[in-house]
Amino acid sequence: MIRNDLHIHSLQSLCGIHSLMEIVNIAADKGMNLVNISDHGSANGKTMVFGVITDKSRVPPVIHSTKGVPIKVLAGIEANILNIDGDSDIPRDYISKFDLVSAGFHDMAEDLLSAQSPQKNIQALENYLKRYPLDIFTHPNIIPFPLPTTHLIDLALEYGFALEINNTNLRLGKANLELELAMLNEAVARSVRLVENSDGHSFLEIGENESILQFLQKNDIDGYSIFLNRHDDTLHKFIAERKQIRE
Ligand SMILES: [Zn+2]
Ligand SMILES: [Zn+2]
Repeated sequence: MIRNDLHIHSLQSLCGIHSLMEIVNIAADKGMNLVNISDHGSANGKTMVFGVITDKSRVPPVIHSTKGVPIKVLAGIEANILNIDGDSDIPRDYISKFDLVSAGFHDMAEDLLSAQSPQKNIQALENYLKRYPLDIFTHPNIIPFPLPTTHLIDLALEYGFALEINNTNLRLGKANLELELAMLNEAVARSVRLVENSDGHSFLEIGENESILQFLQKNDIDGYSIFLNRHDDTLHKFIAERKQIRE
């Protein structure tokens, strides 16, 4: 179980199948502490409603489940990096209101998808970083968008964002395992921030890290020492630091 899950989709983007309150109840039942609602940007072709989730006077930072369990709720986004110029669908008006800004490559980045070029992909990420904030780079090793590992680690160190190990990507066979392992090893060696997230779209996925645990065990890696979201204090420092940068 992921105590602090920083990558969950809700009905807000019509990608997840749950409302915010359902997610809070699922998290409480699973013994979780914190959920970051990180719905997709508008390039996924769906109507987005970030206005309510980012308004702390309407969605407080702690919500009690129906059984009375307090769950911390963050307002995030999973923006799309759309092309080699680093265009993104992140709504600029909300940038300072998000608790965390995540972004990643998805199928609507059509030119990059068809090129499958590590050099073009890293250029796209670098151009995005010159124009927009990034706190978590989601599923860095998703198969259709390969990246050169060392250059990726260089950027993570320069800009301070965290690299994600994504349970759903591993479970569904969507991660390039060779690149994933190379990235993990180099990230640990060079002290780059790492997070483990579920990318949960449903109750089956929210807070789950079974495939991450299997991957770590197979490669003899200790998750406790490498993932910042396994430690509440480290996570809260990270969130505060990243938020300050955007203000
Ligand atoms: Zn994604
Ligand atoms: Zn996602």
